[in-house]
Amino acid sequence: MEESGIADKNTPYWWEEAPVRPLPRQPLAKKLDVAIIGAGYAGLSAGLVLARERRSVAAFDAMNSGEGASTRNGGITSGSIRPDYATITRRFGEEKAIAIEAEGKVAREFLYDFIKTEGLECDFQLVGQFKGVIGYDDYEKTARSAEVLAKRLGIDAYAVPYSEQRNYIGTDFYRGGMVRMDIGGLHPAKFHAELLRVALASGLTVHAGTRVTSVERDGSEFRVVTEAGTVQARQVLVCTDGYTDGAVPFLRRRLVPVRSRIIVTEELAPEVMAQLMPRRMMMIEGRQLGFYYRPTPDGKRILLGGRDSSRVGDPAAPKLFLRRGLINLFPELENVRLSHTWFGNVAMHRDMLPRIFEKDGVVYATGFCGSGVVWAPWIGTRAAHKLLGHGEQARTAFDFRPPAFIPLYRGNPWFMPAIIEGYRMQDRIALYRARR
Ligand SMILES: Cc1cc2nc3c(=O)[nH]c(=O)nc-3n(C[C@H](O)[C@H](O)[C@H](O)COP(=O)(O)OP(=O)(O)OC[C@H]3O[C@@H](n4cnc5c(N)ncnc54)[C@H](O)[C@@H]3O)c2cc1C
Repeated sequence: MEESGIADKNTPYWWEEAPVRPLPRQPLAKKLDVAIIGAGYAGLSAGLVLARERRSVAAFDAMNSGEGASTRNGGITSGSIRPDYATITRRFGEEKAIAIEAEGKVAREFLYDFIKTEGLECDFQLVGQFKGVIGYDDYEKTARSAEVLAKRLGIDAYAVPYSEQRNYIGTDFYRGGMVRMDIGGLHPAKFHAELLRVALASGLTVHAGTRVTSVERDGSEFRVVTEAGTVQARQVLVCTDGYTDGAVPFLRRRLVPVRSRIIVTEELAPEVMAQLMPRRMMMIEGRQLGFYYRPTPDGKRILLGGRDSSRVGDPAAPKLFLRRGLINLFPELENVRLSHTWFGNVAMHRDMLPRIFEKDGVVYATGFCGSGVVWAPWIGTRAAHKLLGHGEQARTAFDFRPPAFIPLYRGNPWFMPAIIEGYRMQDRIALYRARR
């Protein structure tokens, strides 16, 4: 009776303790030093730096602040880079590839330090991450990459053979895996609420529920047209990621919004949680469309996410797909009820590297490809320093040219269901081969 397992609520579990709320209406300034479009992690992180440097700065968000991906995500501080090291080296050269890998470490440390020094109450726990692999060949490769992470970047990373897997996760599905201790979990909506708190206290104005409809060049400045009126801004920063709309057509033709969906179980018995997630680690898989999962911060439920190939409405199929994935990993959860399910958009693009870039004087901080808990605060902060002209603090290996144009694409990702189905097929073949 799978139908009965579909969740009670179609809103993020995270909103129970940290709901997204409308903000008090603010008068619109006629002139600004900087207008930021988007008030998720990236926009607020940039706004915080700019406000502390005494710039007149406002962030505009079409929805409630945080109602995009920043309060809907899994809260895993992965800081992942999707292309592997070999691919980045081939495209950009070895020096850039090393700089990108190294910056992931710095960006994670920046986030952890930021949470600590600002006193952000967001249930952050540096518990480590286990990555499960599906075949013994993958295990050998993963073991080698753990060695590289440890040797080259000094990250506490190690391989876990199949025989020891149950010390980390209560399943036999994987053929071993890898642990890295520089990754943890936070409560994403609390993190956003706390970031908003410090940004507002520092002087950032946030106009929530105020869509920007266009940005027009006006001499050396910009006319930013919003639903609440027009603002003259010296500089503009775009932080719209997976929610990019027609206000910035240049970006819309380059970023593809892809749904990521999450399910959360009801509270499980402490002994079940101890058996399934003995170390309370964050979990990912080495498959094309792998699941990501974790215990909730109170350690009482399991949250599991993955790609959702639906594009409109809220159909049952993707929820059932995740539920089956959960039970495939943990057959003991066959009769579990789900309390919540929801989805949000992640922004994918051609080379899958997060970035800062400038086009016609507008600066963009975006393209986080589903790993923005670490990257959005980091890239948002670097972008603010770039706008301030702070050479050294703005330095990042992610200051690139814009993402490549996607032919025949103007913002309607009609091709995504087919692409996701293609990846699923590759995963099925890989699993079949690995288990022959
Ligand atoms: C289900 C899910 C699970 C995820 N899990 C993880 C995870 O575990 N770890 C991880 O690192 N990352 C994860 N991510 C990705 C992460 O949440 C995002 O990368 C990150 O939140 C992006 O932050 P942002 O500030 O760039 O964008 P967002 O938080 O998406 O904010 C963009 C904002 O721009 C606004 N906007 C768009 N157009 C306009 C306009 N014209 N005018 C005004 N405002 C506009 C939107 O309203 C939106 O609020 C997940 C994402 C999803 C959806």
